[in-house]
Amino acid sequence: MAETAGVLTVDLDAIAANWTALRARHAEMGGGEVGAAVKADAYGLGAARVAPALAAAGCRHFFVAQLSEGMALRPVLGPGAMIVVLNGFPPGADQEAELVPVLNTPGDIAAWSGTGRDVFLHLDTGMARLGLTAAELEALAEDPSPLQGVRLRYVMTHLACADDPPHPMNTAQASRLAALRARLPAAPFSFANSSGLFLGRDFASNLARPGCALYGLNPTPGRANPMRPAVRLAVPVLQVRDIPAGTPVGYGATWVSTRPSRIATVAAGYADGYLRSLSGRAIGRHNWQDIPLVGRVSMDLSTFDVTDHPGIGPGSMIELIGPGNPADEVAARAGTIGYEVLTALGARYRRVYTQSA
Ligand SMILES: *Cc1c(COP(=O)(O)O)cnc(C)c1O
Repeated sequence: MAETAGVLTVDLDAIAANWTALRARHAEMGGGEVGAAVKADAYGLGAARVAPALAAAGCRHFFVAQLSEGMALRPVLGPGAMIVVLNGFPPGADQEAELVPVLNTPGDIAAWSGTGRDVFLHLDTGMARLGLTAAELEALAEDPSPLQGVRLRYVMTHLACADDPPHPMNTAQASRLAALRARLPAAPFSFANSSGLFLGRDFASNLARPGCALYGLNPTPGRANPMRPAVRLAVPVLQVRDIPAGTPVGYGATWVSTRPSRIATVAAGYADGYLRSLSGRAIGRHNWQDIPLVGRVSMDLSTFDVTDHPGIGPGSMIELIGPGNPADEVAARAGTIGYEVLTALGARYRRVYTQSA
């Protein structure tokens, strides 16, 4: 039967291969372990499928943002994996799931003190978002007793500008981290995200935390993407119509044909995360050819000008994301980043996971 909804294909082998490549890269930099950021449902791709594939490749550390994500992941991964909750959570809230909190404030440290649990301690080295400030760390250095009774597994910080290698923030954060760590009891540390793994030896640590690069986004913007593509989104054409020159298409009549045209309407819109800001800007792909999106993206539908592609008819699939049209490029056309394109991927697509053996 012809597809009636988009098909989102996630290549679990590619994700595992990307993790293995990043692990080798971290080792070359002089770093240690490599975990995986699987927050936001593994960047929209499905943590319940992605995380076990990463675990099978050897990944032992998984990062989620919220408690609920960690709770959902524990039964999927079993007891062996470390599941770290970046936003933290109160003691007891994880019940038996043995999640690892990131302590972001002095209040977090006080709450966990004496529990004997594994924790991460987040130091703010330049994002002003989460983590202890330099002043808060200084107070902790003077009186480290609140840290007693927890197992400080890792000290961590997060890079603000890693995707822009010459940015002075990168080296500034590396030297701030070194200075702040020196004020604490010795502990392993966790530093690079995906792009940080491409910044050189000063960004190696005991545990890297890549996310986007695992899913095939380019951790080195402006340069060739070293990662394997992992996502393909193809949507079915529902209807094709011939229109004369001078015919408006879609909401707001923002696009008007300038020649007799054929318009293909596909089953994906902004409710599926096909961003409305792609209106008039996106391209689709069919048989290795670009097809322009015309008019506005609506909630459930989008329209493509297939005048020059007579092979396309009802039931044909138009690729919205794929190796020839990567999420980073879709994002650039929408005025955003690949992360947003992936995490927006909707719930109505049929999801297919490919994995050898
Ligand atoms: C999301 C996140 C990561 C992963 O970042 P990528 O840029 O996707 O590699 C790592 N660390 C923290 C704290 C994060 O929030």
